[in-house]
Amino acid sequence: MTTIAFIGLGNMGGPMAANLAKGGYAVGAFDLSPEALAKAADAGCARKASVAEAVRDADVVVSMLPAGKHVRAVYAGEGGVIANARAGALFIDSSTIDVQSARDVAAAAKAKGFAMLDAPVSGGVGGATAGTLTFMVGGEAVAFERAKPVLQKMGKNIFHAGASGNGQAAKIANNMLLGVTMIATCEAFNLAEKLGLDAQTFFNIASTASGQSWSMTSYCPAPGPVPSAPSNRDYKPGFAAAMMLKDMRLAQEAAHAARAATPLGAQAEALYALMEAAGKDDLDFSGVMKLIRGEL
Ligand code: NAD
Repeated sequence: MTTIAFIGLGNMGGPMAANLAKGGYAVGAFDLSPEALAKAADAGCARKASVAEAVRDADVVVSMLPAGKHVRAVYAGEGGVIANARAGALFIDSSTIDVQSARDVAAAAKAKGFAMLDAPVSGGVGGATAGTLTFMVGGEAVAFERAKPVLQKMGKNIFHAGASGNGQAAKIANNMLLGVTMIATCEAFNLAEKLGLDAQTFFNIASTASGQSWSMTSYCPAPGPVPSAPSNRDYKPGFAAAMMLKDMRLAQEAAHAARAATPLGAQAEALYALMEAAGKDDLDFSGVMKLIRGEL
């Protein structure tokens, strides 16, 4: 039986580890939070006392941590994954982190003979719970093929994006596009309403015209036209503006490093930062509608 070590059992990692256990893997779990660890144990994972203990007997290590500094801390050093994993183990980091940290940690793993993939996800807590996440994976093709059966227990769409770091690149480029189209959609609905169109009428026209986008048809920021959208429950997330801002900042950091011009990405970061400054970044990111309407 394949043994998996799962490090980081928060909102996303908790249900992902549970799906691996449900899928028949022996899962050894570790988190700094005793509550998160207890939940994972209830879901069929074995409690481990440290990163080192979790990875010692594992064939595959999966991590789901907040940011690049946590990933560096968990993989590097004496008590870390690289120093304690057994020979031949495969590492999969599913956290959303900066491209450079992903590439640096994978290079450090490779120097000690380990294959490592960056495999960030989209689909949120709902997708993590349902096992329907999308994985965007960077790293060597052979390692990707090895990881696939494990990822399939947690997700539905699994893409190989190319070399190390490319999974993170795909994730932040996609989310930059989402962040920008959401703001543009808010501006368009606000303008249409100020000019006398109601939201439903404008939606009926624009959703079948050239202004159509996922932000409009699946997640409309104006209440009414898309009943399942967070705009109909006073912008309760969903995908919080704070998380979108994190991804916008990662996109800008990567854009500066790569010297890619992203003027609209920069504007989008600034606007989600205003939601943070207003103390409203716990709203869904489509709540940027309130900012555009002057309601924050
Ligand atoms: P979270 O804060 O709920 O969980 C992170 C967990 O990591 C916590 O339980 C924390 O205790 C643990 N942790 C931190 N440092 C650790 C260490 N050194 N050793 C062991 N455990 C440690 O965060 P989350 O919402 O589960 O998100 C995790 C990652 O997934 C983030 O990178 C986030 O950007 C990404 N993501 C989140 C969502 C979402 O909707 N929540 C969607 C897509 C991607």
